[in-house]
Amino acid sequence: MVRSPLLLSTQGSAWDGFALKLGPISILIEEGIISEFLHGLEAVELVQENDFAHHLDLGDRFLTPGLVDAHTHLLYGGDRSFERELRESGASYLEILEAGGGIHATVNATTETDDATLLSLAAQRLQIMRSWGTTTVETKTGYGLLAEEEMRHLRLYQDLKSTNASTIVPTYLGAHALPKGECRKDHIQSILRTLHRVAEESLSTRFDLFLERGAYRYQEADTLFRLARSLGFDLTLHAGQFSDQAGGDLALRHRAASLDHGEFLGSQDGERFAEAGVAIGLLPTCNLYLETGVQPQARKLIDHGVSLFLGTDHNPGSSPTLSLLEVAAIAHSHLEMSTQEILLAMTSAPARVLGLPTIGCLTPGAQGDVAVWNGGSSLFGISHQHSPLESLFIGGVLSTD
Ligand SMILES: [Zn+2]
Repeated sequence: MVRSPLLLSTQGSAWDGFALKLGPISILIEEGIISEFLHGLEAVELVQENDFAHHLDLGDRFLTPGLVDAHTHLLYGGDRSFERELRESGASYLEILEAGGGIHATVNATTETDDATLLSLAAQRLQIMRSWGTTTVETKTGYGLLAEEEMRHLRLYQDLKSTNASTIVPTYLGAHALPKGECRKDHIQSILRTLHRVAEESLSTRFDLFLERGAYRYQEADTLFRLARSLGFDLTLHAGQFSDQAGGDLALRHRAASLDHGEFLGSQDGERFAEAGVAIGLLPTCNLYLETGVQPQARKLIDHGVSLFLGTDHNPGSSPTLSLLEVAAIAHSHLEMSTQEILLAMTSAPARVLGLPTIGCLTPGAQGDVAVWNGGSSLFGISHQHSPLESLFIGGVLSTD
Protein backbone atom coordinates (compact mmCIF):
# COMPACT_ATOMS: atom_id res chain seq x y z
CA MET A 1 0.00 0.00 0.00
CA VAL A 2 1.44 3.38 -1.00
CA ARG A 3 1.18 5.91 1.81
CA SER A 4 0.84 9.58 0.98
CA PRO A 5 3.66 11.83 2.23
CA LEU A 6 3.37 13.31 5.73
CA LEU A 7 4.59 16.85 6.40
CA LEU A 8 5.35 17.91 9.99
CA SER A 9 6.04 21.59 10.62
CA THR A 10 6.81 23.63 13.74
CA GLN A 11 7.82 27.19 14.54
CA GLY A 12 9.83 25.70 17.42
CA SER A 13 13.30 24.20 17.19
CA ALA A 14 14.48 20.61 16.65
CA TRP A 15 17.35 18.38 17.65
CA ASP A 16 18.28 16.53 14.46
CA GLY A 17 20.33 13.90 16.27
CA PHE A 18 23.59 15.82 16.01
CA ALA A 19 22.86 19.54 16.54
CA LEU A 20 20.13 21.93 17.61
CA LYS A 21 18.36 23.56 14.65
CA LEU A 22 16.35 26.71 15.23
CA GLY A 23 12.81 26.83 13.83
CA PRO A 24 10.83 26.98 11.75
CA ILE A 25 11.34 23.32 10.90
CA SER A 26 9.69 21.12 8.27
CA ILE A 27 10.07 17.35 8.07
CA LEU A 28 8.72 15.39 5.13
CA ILE A 29 8.22 11.64 5.60
CA GLU A 30 7.60 9.42 2.57
CA GLU A 31 6.97 5.69 2.86
CA GLY A 32 8.12 5.77 6.47
CA ILE A 33 11.46 7.43 5.66
CA ILE A 34 12.45 11.07 6.19
CA SER A 35 12.99 12.60 2.73
CA GLU A 36 13.42 16.25 3.76
CA PHE A 37 14.57 17.98 6.94
CA LEU A 38 14.53 21.74 6.43
CA HIS A 39 14.89 24.70 8.76
CA GLY A 40 14.53 28.47 8.41
CA LEU A 41 13.30 29.94 5.10
CA GLU A 42 13.51 26.62 3.24
CA ALA A 43 11.17 25.07 5.83
CA VAL A 44 8.62 27.85 5.29
CA GLU A 45 8.87 27.51 1.50
CA LEU A 46 8.25 23.77 1.62
CA VAL A 47 4.98 24.43 3.45
CA GLN A 48 3.91 27.37 1.28
CA GLU A 49 4.80 25.98 -2.13
CA ASN A 50 3.30 22.53 -1.72
CA ASP A 51 -0.11 21.25 -0.89
CA PHE A 52 0.40 18.04 1.05
CA ALA A 53 -2.79 16.20 1.94
CA HIS A 54 -1.22 15.19 5.25
CA HIS A 55 0.25 18.29 6.85
CA LEU A 56 0.41 18.60 10.63
CA ASP A 57 1.10 22.09 11.96
CA LEU A 58 2.68 21.43 15.36
CA GLY A 59 2.63 25.06 16.55
CA ASP A 60 5.87 25.77 18.39
CA ARG A 61 6.56 22.24 19.61
CA PHE A 62 10.12 20.95 20.00
CA LEU A 63 11.04 17.94 17.81
CA THR A 64 13.59 15.18 18.29
CA PRO A 65 14.17 11.75 16.80
CA GLY A 66 12.46 8.97 18.76
CA LEU A 67 14.82 8.38 21.69
CA VAL A 68 17.20 5.41 21.73
CA ASP A 69 17.79 3.37 24.89
CA ALA A 70 20.83 1.18 24.23
CA HIS A 71 20.93 -0.65 27.57
CA THR A 72 17.92 -2.40 29.13
CA HIS A 73 16.88 -5.76 30.59
CA LEU A 74 13.19 -5.91 29.63
CA LEU A 75 12.35 -9.61 29.76
CA TYR A 76 11.79 -10.80 33.32
CA GLY A 77 9.17 -11.96 35.77
CA GLY A 78 8.85 -11.32 39.50
CA ASP A 79 9.44 -8.36 41.71
CA ARG A 80 12.53 -7.42 43.74
CA SER A 81 11.46 -4.28 45.51
CA PHE A 82 11.99 -6.10 48.83
CA GLU A 83 15.75 -5.87 48.25
CA ARG A 84 15.57 -2.20 49.00
CA GLU A 85 14.86 -3.10 52.62
CA LEU A 86 17.81 -5.50 52.68
CA ARG A 87 20.06 -2.73 51.40
CA GLU A 88 18.68 -0.35 54.00
CA SER A 89 19.75 -2.85 56.66
CA GLY A 90 23.30 -2.63 55.31
CA ALA A 91 23.65 -5.41 52.67
CA SER A 92 25.44 -4.40 49.45
CA TYR A 93 24.31 -5.33 45.92
CA LEU A 94 27.14 -7.87 45.60
CA GLU A 95 26.36 -9.39 49.03
CA ILE A 96 22.71 -9.85 48.04
CA LEU A 97 23.83 -11.43 44.75
CA GLU A 98 26.20 -13.84 46.53
CA ALA A 99 23.45 -14.83 48.97
CA GLY A 100 21.25 -15.98 46.07
CA GLY A 101 19.19 -12.82 45.78
CA GLY A 102 19.60 -10.18 43.12
CA ILE A 103 19.91 -11.63 39.63
CA HIS A 104 19.23 -15.18 40.94
CA ALA A 105 15.84 -14.17 42.39
CA THR A 106 14.83 -12.78 39.00
CA VAL A 107 16.18 -15.86 37.20
CA ASN A 108 13.95 -18.12 39.34
CA ALA A 109 10.88 -15.93 38.87
CA THR A 110 11.47 -15.58 35.11
CA THR A 111 12.07 -19.30 34.58
CA GLU A 112 8.70 -19.99 36.23
CA THR A 113 6.86 -17.45 34.04
CA ASP A 114 5.23 -18.67 30.80
CA ASP A 115 5.93 -17.23 27.35
CA ALA A 116 2.68 -15.30 27.00
CA THR A 117 3.09 -13.57 30.37
CA LEU A 118 6.72 -12.65 29.71
CA LEU A 119 5.81 -11.25 26.29
CA SER A 120 2.95 -9.24 27.68
CA LEU A 121 5.11 -7.81 30.50
CA ALA A 122 7.84 -6.80 28.04
CA ALA A 123 5.26 -5.25 25.69
CA GLN A 124 3.82 -3.19 28.56
CA ARG A 125 7.31 -1.93 29.41
CA LEU A 126 7.90 -0.95 25.76
CA GLN A 127 4.60 0.91 25.72
CA ILE A 128 5.57 2.92 28.81
CA MET A 129 8.92 3.68 27.15
CA ARG A 130 7.09 5.02 24.08
CA SER A 131 5.00 7.26 26.33
CA TRP A 132 8.32 8.89 27.31
CA GLY A 133 9.50 9.16 23.70
CA THR A 134 11.68 6.04 23.36
CA THR A 135 11.19 4.22 20.05
CA THR A 136 14.36 2.10 19.82
CA VAL A 137 15.32 -0.26 22.63
CA GLU A 138 18.24 -2.60 23.07
CA THR A 139 17.25 -5.37 25.46
CA LYS A 140 19.29 -8.17 26.95
CA THR A 141 18.73 -11.74 28.04
CA GLY A 142 20.60 -12.77 31.17
CA TYR A 143 17.71 -13.80 33.42
CA GLY A 144 17.79 -17.33 32.06
CA LEU A 145 21.48 -18.18 32.67
CA LEU A 146 21.06 -21.84 31.64
CA ALA A 147 21.31 -22.43 27.90
CA GLU A 148 17.75 -23.56 27.12
CA GLU A 149 16.21 -20.76 29.14
CA GLU A 150 18.46 -18.15 27.48
CA MET A 151 17.44 -19.55 24.08
CA ARG A 152 13.76 -19.30 25.09
CA HIS A 153 14.26 -15.62 25.97
CA LEU A 154 16.03 -14.90 22.66
CA ARG A 155 13.16 -16.52 20.74
CA LEU A 156 10.66 -14.46 22.74
CA TYR A 157 12.55 -11.35 21.64
CA GLN A 158 12.01 -12.43 18.01
CA ASP A 159 8.26 -12.62 18.73
CA LEU A 160 8.39 -9.20 20.37
CA LYS A 161 10.25 -7.75 17.36
CA SER A 162 7.60 -8.95 14.95
CA THR A 163 4.63 -7.76 17.04
CA ASN A 164 5.81 -4.47 18.53
CA ALA A 165 5.92 -0.97 17.06
CA SER A 166 9.28 -0.12 18.66
CA THR A 167 12.59 -1.05 17.04
CA ILE A 168 14.01 -3.81 19.26
CA VAL A 169 17.65 -4.93 19.34
CA PRO A 170 18.15 -8.14 21.36
CA THR A 171 21.49 -8.83 23.00
CA TYR A 172 22.60 -12.23 24.26
CA LEU A 173 23.87 -11.53 27.79
CA GLY A 174 25.06 -15.08 28.22
CA ALA A 175 27.46 -14.29 31.06
CA HIS A 176 25.36 -12.30 33.52
CA ALA A 177 25.83 -14.37 36.70
CA LEU A 178 26.97 -17.92 37.41
CA PRO A 179 23.95 -20.21 37.87
CA LYS A 180 23.71 -21.54 41.44
CA GLY A 181 25.27 -24.98 41.80
CA GLU A 182 26.97 -24.91 38.37
CA CYS A 183 30.69 -25.53 37.90
CA ARG A 184 32.36 -22.36 36.52
CA LYS A 185 34.30 -24.19 33.83
CA ASP A 186 31.29 -26.20 32.62
CA HIS A 187 29.16 -23.10 32.48
CA ILE A 188 31.69 -21.20 30.38
CA GLN A 189 31.70 -24.16 27.96
CA SER A 190 27.92 -24.04 27.87
CA ILE A 191 27.94 -20.32 26.95
CA LEU A 192 30.50 -21.03 24.21
CA ARG A 193 28.20 -23.69 22.74
CA THR A 194 25.18 -21.42 23.06
CA LEU A 195 26.99 -18.66 21.16
CA HIS A 196 27.18 -21.00 18.16
CA ARG A 197 23.44 -21.73 18.39
CA VAL A 198 22.52 -18.04 18.73
CA ALA A 199 24.58 -17.26 15.63
CA GLU A 200 23.19 -20.20 13.61
CA GLU A 201 19.59 -19.26 14.42
CA SER A 202 20.29 -15.51 13.89
CA LEU A 203 18.70 -14.72 17.24
CA SER A 204 21.09 -11.89 18.13
CA THR A 205 24.13 -10.11 16.69
CA ARG A 206 25.32 -8.74 20.02
CA PHE A 207 27.02 -10.41 22.99
CA ASP A 208 27.30 -8.97 26.50
CA LEU A 209 28.92 -10.09 29.77
CA PHE A 210 29.26 -8.91 33.37
CA LEU A 211 32.92 -8.47 34.37
CA GLU A 212 32.89 -7.98 38.13
CA ARG A 213 33.79 -9.52 41.47
CA GLY A 214 31.19 -12.24 42.09
CA ALA A 215 30.39 -12.49 38.37
CA TYR A 216 32.84 -13.23 35.49
CA ARG A 217 36.63 -12.93 35.58
CA TYR A 218 38.92 -11.32 33.05
CA GLN A 219 40.27 -14.57 31.56
CA GLU A 220 36.78 -16.02 31.21
CA ALA A 221 35.52 -12.83 29.60
CA ASP A 222 38.50 -12.82 27.24
CA THR A 223 37.73 -16.40 26.12
CA LEU A 224 34.04 -15.62 25.58
CA PHE A 225 34.75 -12.40 23.67
CA ARG A 226 37.25 -14.14 21.42
CA LEU A 227 34.71 -16.74 20.28
CA ALA A 228 31.85 -14.23 20.06
CA ARG A 229 33.96 -11.94 17.89
CA SER A 230 35.01 -14.81 15.62
CA LEU A 231 31.33 -15.68 15.11
CA GLY A 232 30.59 -12.10 14.06
CA PHE A 233 28.95 -10.75 17.22
CA ASP A 234 29.26 -7.10 18.20
CA LEU A 235 30.52 -6.90 21.76
CA THR A 236 29.48 -4.91 24.80
CA LEU A 237 30.14 -5.41 28.49
CA HIS A 238 29.00 -4.43 31.97
CA ALA A 239 32.22 -3.40 33.70
CA GLY A 240 33.69 -1.03 36.23
CA GLN A 241 30.42 -0.74 38.16
CA PHE A 242 31.69 -1.71 41.63
CA SER A 243 35.41 -2.25 41.01
CA ASP A 244 38.04 -2.02 38.26
CA GLN A 245 38.62 -5.51 36.79
CA ALA A 246 40.52 -4.19 33.75
CA GLY A 247 37.31 -3.88 31.75
CA GLY A 248 38.88 -1.02 29.80
CA ASP A 249 41.66 -3.31 28.56
CA LEU A 250 39.16 -6.00 27.62
CA ALA A 251 36.89 -3.60 25.72
CA LEU A 252 39.81 -2.09 23.81
CA ARG A 253 41.50 -5.38 23.05
CA HIS A 254 38.32 -6.77 21.46
CA ARG A 255 37.11 -3.45 20.01
CA ALA A 256 33.81 -3.62 21.86
CA ALA A 257 31.03 -1.31 20.67
CA SER A 258 30.67 -0.03 24.22
CA LEU A 259 31.62 -0.55 27.84
CA ASP A 260 28.64 0.19 30.08
CA HIS A 261 28.72 1.53 33.68
CA GLY A 262 32.40 2.57 33.84
CA GLU A 263 32.26 4.19 37.29
CA PHE A 264 35.62 2.60 38.15
CA LEU A 265 37.48 2.88 34.87
CA GLY A 266 41.25 3.23 34.96
CA SER A 267 42.63 6.78 34.84
CA GLN A 268 44.06 6.36 31.31
CA ASP A 269 40.97 4.71 29.84
CA GLY A 270 39.27 7.94 28.69
CA GLU A 271 41.97 8.84 26.17
CA ARG A 272 42.31 5.26 24.97
CA PHE A 273 38.56 4.90 24.45
CA ALA A 274 38.38 8.13 22.47
CA GLU A 275 41.25 7.02 20.24
CA ALA A 276 39.77 3.55 19.62
CA GLY A 277 36.20 4.82 19.11
CA VAL A 278 34.81 2.61 21.88
CA ALA A 279 31.76 4.23 23.50
CA ILE A 280 30.86 4.29 27.17
CA GLY A 281 27.27 3.72 28.29
CA LEU A 282 26.35 5.77 31.36
CA LEU A 283 23.63 4.33 33.61
CA PRO A 284 23.29 6.88 36.41
CA THR A 285 19.86 5.85 37.79
CA CYS A 286 21.38 2.54 38.86
CA ASN A 287 23.86 4.27 41.18
CA LEU A 288 21.17 6.44 42.71
CA TYR A 289 18.84 3.50 43.26
CA LEU A 290 21.61 1.39 44.83
CA GLU A 291 22.86 4.46 46.72
CA THR A 292 26.46 3.69 45.80
CA GLY A 293 27.42 7.35 46.13
CA VAL A 294 29.47 7.00 42.93
CA GLN A 295 28.76 8.26 39.40
CA PRO A 296 30.82 7.94 36.21
CA GLN A 297 33.15 10.81 35.36
CA ALA A 298 31.09 11.98 32.41
CA ARG A 299 32.70 15.45 32.21
CA LYS A 300 36.20 14.04 32.12
CA LEU A 301 35.21 11.47 29.47
CA ILE A 302 33.55 14.11 27.26
CA ASP A 303 36.61 16.35 27.59
CA HIS A 304 38.75 13.43 26.39
CA GLY A 305 36.44 13.07 23.37
CA VAL A 306 34.82 9.76 24.34
CA SER A 307 31.45 9.02 22.73
CA LEU A 308 28.87 8.56 25.51
CA PHE A 309 25.31 7.37 25.62
CA LEU A 310 22.74 7.39 28.42
CA GLY A 311 20.64 4.31 29.15
CA THR A 312 17.94 3.47 31.67
CA ASP A 313 19.47 0.05 32.44
CA HIS A 314 15.86 -0.86 33.18
CA ASN A 315 15.87 -4.00 35.36
CA PRO A 316 13.94 -5.19 38.40
CA GLY A 317 16.79 -4.97 40.88
CA SER A 318 18.81 -1.82 40.41
CA SER A 319 17.00 0.52 38.02
CA PRO A 320 13.21 0.42 37.79
CA THR A 321 12.87 3.47 35.52
CA LEU A 322 11.64 3.17 31.93
CA SER A 323 12.09 6.88 31.17
CA LEU A 324 15.18 8.25 29.47
CA LEU A 325 13.99 11.69 30.58
CA GLU A 326 14.53 10.67 34.20
CA VAL A 327 18.05 9.59 33.23
CA ALA A 328 18.50 12.92 31.43
CA ALA A 329 17.51 14.89 34.53
CA ILE A 330 20.11 13.00 36.57
CA ALA A 331 22.76 13.48 33.86
CA HIS A 332 22.05 17.21 34.01
CA SER A 333 22.20 17.50 37.79
CA HIS A 334 24.76 14.81 38.77
CA LEU A 335 26.98 14.32 35.70
CA GLU A 336 27.34 17.98 34.66
CA MET A 337 26.24 17.24 31.12
CA SER A 338 24.79 20.04 28.99
CA THR A 339 21.42 19.79 27.27
CA GLN A 340 23.02 19.19 23.88
CA GLU A 341 25.39 16.55 25.26
CA ILE A 342 22.39 14.79 26.79
CA LEU A 343 20.37 14.94 23.56
CA LEU A 344 23.29 13.46 21.63
CA ALA A 345 23.64 10.71 24.27
CA MET A 346 19.98 9.67 23.81
CA THR A 347 19.73 9.78 20.01
CA SER A 348 22.47 9.30 17.40
CA ALA A 349 25.22 8.21 19.84
CA PRO A 350 23.38 5.10 21.16
CA ALA A 351 22.07 4.36 17.65
CA ARG A 352 25.67 4.23 16.40
CA VAL A 353 26.61 1.85 19.22
CA LEU A 354 23.75 -0.40 18.08
CA GLY A 355 24.93 -0.19 14.45
CA LEU A 356 21.77 1.63 13.33
CA PRO A 357 22.78 4.63 11.17
CA THR A 358 19.20 5.45 10.11
CA ILE A 359 17.91 5.64 13.71
CA GLY A 360 18.30 8.45 16.24
CA CYS A 361 18.45 11.24 13.65
CA LEU A 362 16.10 13.33 11.51
CA THR A 363 18.30 13.58 8.44
CA PRO A 364 17.11 12.47 4.97
CA GLY A 365 17.20 8.68 4.72
CA ALA A 366 16.46 8.17 8.42
CA GLN A 367 13.50 6.16 9.71
CA GLY A 368 10.52 8.46 10.30
CA ASP A 369 10.63 8.26 14.10
CA VAL A 370 9.79 11.72 15.43
CA ALA A 371 8.98 12.76 19.01
CA VAL A 372 6.94 15.93 19.49
CA TRP A 373 7.46 17.64 22.86
CA ASN A 374 5.68 20.29 24.81
CA GLY A 375 8.22 22.93 25.82
CA GLY A 376 11.66 23.73 24.42
CA SER A 377 14.93 21.84 24.25
CA SER A 378 15.59 22.41 27.97
CA LEU A 379 12.87 19.88 28.82
CA PHE A 380 15.57 17.24 29.23
CA GLY A 381 17.11 19.10 32.14
CA ILE A 382 13.94 18.98 34.21
CA SER A 383 12.50 16.10 36.19
CA HIS A 384 8.89 15.35 35.22
CA GLN A 385 5.95 13.76 36.99
CA HIS A 386 4.15 13.39 33.67
CA SER A 387 5.66 12.87 30.27
CA PRO A 388 5.99 16.10 28.24
CA LEU A 389 5.61 14.02 25.07
CA GLU A 390 2.74 15.32 22.97
CA SER A 391 2.82 12.82 20.12
CA LEU A 392 5.10 10.21 18.61
CA PHE A 393 5.59 8.99 15.04
CA ILE A 394 7.20 5.64 14.30
CA GLY A 395 8.09 5.04 10.67
CA GLY A 396 5.87 8.03 9.87
CA VAL A 397 2.84 6.48 11.60
CA LEU A 398 1.27 8.15 14.63
CA SER A 399 1.73 5.94 17.68
CA THR A 400 -1.62 5.66 19.41
CA ASP A 401 -0.98 3.46 22.45
ZN1 LIG B 1 22.63 -3.67 32.73
